[in-house]
Amino acid sequence: MKNTTFTSAKKKVITTLTAASCILSVSAPALGSTAIGNAIFGNSIVASAASAGTVVDAKNGNADLVPGRFYKSPNQNYVLVFQGDGNLVVYHYNKSTGKAYSPTWSSQTENRGGTKCVLQGDGNFVIYRKDGKAIWNTRTNGKKGAYLTFSDDGEIRVVSRNANYATTWSSRNNHGYAIEVADRPFIWPVPDCKAISSAFNDGRNHGAIDIAAASGTSVKAAAGGTVQTYYGYNGGAGNYVVITHNINGATYLTVYMHLSSITVANGATVSAGTEIGKVGSTGNSTGPHLDFSIREGSYYGTRLDPGYYTNLPAGLYNCTNCANYVNEINANRNKSYTLSSHTHSNY
Ligand SMILES: [Zn+2]
Ligand SMILES: [Zn+2]
Repeated sequence: MKNTTFTSAKKKVITTLTAASCILSVSAPALGSTAIGNAIFGNSIVASAASAGTVVDAKNGNADLVPGRFYKSPNQNYVLVFQGDGNLVVYHYNKSTGKAYSPTWSSQTENRGGTKCVLQGDGNFVIYRKDGKAIWNTRTNGKKGAYLTFSDDGEIRVVSRNANYATTWSSRNNHGYAIEVADRPFIWPVPDCKAISSAFNDGRNHGAIDIAAASGTSVKAAAGGTVQTYYGYNGGAGNYVVITHNINGATYLTVYMHLSSITVANGATVSAGTEIGKVGSTGNSTGPHLDFSIREGSYYGTRLDPGYYTNLPAGLYNCTNCANYVNEINANRNKSYTLSSHTHSNY
């Protein structure tokens, strides 16, 4: 599936949408089978906008958009569809061919796992993932008695009866608001430290990331598991901790090198977030940092990229010469990755 970037002159927005070849796989329902037709014209709509139809009404509680359905504007020049890729998109619509073309707006939630798009009884318009986590909304909760309209010029609105029929959100020049979902198997092991000093797989046999931090900074277990502790030089690792995790029935190890001290006992069971030691520069190290790695199955197993399998803190930055890597992981920081996908690994 390719993505295409386009500029919509009408809305003066730039967004990324799924290419037309994918759009056409969404079949158009027969004319008249959509929810439009019972238009409600609230005060503000009559005053300012093109004719609008009601898409869903949350007067009596949550009202879902049917995934894949084409909700048409009253003049049938536009369709609104919640796609299989989790993106809510407005397209031009050709009523004679029944096909959508040239997207004009989207929620920009493609490939974030959204499976449910709902106008809620509390007035908020929300996209949820299958696991129930919200990934996008219009920030209109509290404005109850809401209904969603779609107008002849392709504009989506949330309108609230309880707010005197005011438009509480409009798609005009607004893509809604992404909600960050941190949902990866490991937490960031040094919560207050955001400087990456070496990239994963940076060309020097480095199946780890280096996180620069002051000596003595607390290092946390990235997930629950059983600890092994090692002291000394150990081939350059210095004082280090290995934690063995059982995640969904499979074994993974996380390794924390160059510690100035270890604050957990060998054999201890820890939870995610338990302190295991302090950042240092023991072993083969030129300055205080945490060398952090994730390994599959055993100590010598495949290395997995921590930039994809840990919940990254906001504001991560590159402090040496790994800007490309840091830009890449920052750009993907809202995406979820499961360990079984093996997408980001080496060795
Ligand atoms: Zn390293
Ligand atoms: Zn190192």
